[in-house]
Amino acid sequence: MFIKPSLLAGAMLLAASQSANAVVINFDYTYDGGFFTGVNSGRQTLLNAAGSFLGSILTDSLAPISSGGSNNFSAIFDRPDTGAQTILNNFSVAPDTLTVFVGGRDLGGNTLGFGGYGGYSVSGTQAFLNTAEKRGQSGDTVGSSATDFAPWGGQISFSNSANWYFDTNPSTTEPFSGNDFYSVALHELGHLLGLGSADSWKDKTSGSNFTGANAVAAYGGNVPLESDKVHWLDGTQSNVNGVPQEALLDPTIRVGTRKVYTQLDLAALKDVGWQVSVTAVPLPSTVWLFGPALLGLIASSRKRYSGI
Ligand SMILES: [Zn+2]
Repeated sequence: MFIKPSLLAGAMLLAASQSANAVVINFDYTYDGGFFTGVNSGRQTLLNAAGSFLGSILTDSLAPISSGGSNNFSAIFDRPDTGAQTILNNFSVAPDTLTVFVGGRDLGGNTLGFGGYGGYSVSGTQAFLNTAEKRGQSGDTVGSSATDFAPWGGQISFSNSANWYFDTNPSTTEPFSGNDFYSVALHELGHLLGLGSADSWKDKTSGSNFTGANAVAAYGGNVPLESDKVHWLDGTQSNVNGVPQEALLDPTIRVGTRKVYTQLDLAALKDVGWQVSVTAVPLPSTVWLFGPALLGLIASSRKRYSGI
């Protein structure tokens, strides 16, 4: 079969745009408190690995937010290095991109991380207002009818006093001591993506359970929640590629423990409205050599249990 060069070029462009159909999580270190910069700049590689994993499994098309002229989008978030509310006017976000402000600060107690999606104020055309709220998603993202979620991004603070383990290669697993930064980054990014936080999550909670259809199917029934309603009940089990693991979005993580997105956590991403690639494999199979050791361990990225 003969293919005219112009058609071939068109086909190649199409293929390229399809393969690039993933979400980019773009970390911003403007307010990092030195946690990711200077002598600590090497930590950015590990954070990017966590962001790249999540971005690679999300296939939503997110409309850009482009401030300009009469259209003004203001991002509102808590500075990750101080916790002070910050407003950035005339803020813009590229297509298929989330901007995440990250940094370190003293979170007190045993808290390892604190994260969530950002707020905003917006003025301009009705179309611009709609884009600010939905970024082109078809479902409602706000209120009691919310079935979708599409933030501009948000913020994550990491404890600047924890005994962190910064893995130089998160695709392999090895024994370690300390708190696993990679696991906590994955957990906090989950909150930023709406797990425990989006209206589309809240609308699927009933009493002390989460009732999202995908999560219920993955768990085998309504999923019990912590009293905060933003985490699975501490100790909730699921699996990764069939191997048991405590769910990532329960509220605690023990030292020396790696946790990644389980089947339940991925199902919850779908329930809050994300299109999740079902072909994604969270990590190479070598990591599951440690699967049995994860049984019975406790975890929340917001609460650290030292010891066992
Ligand atoms: Zn949490």
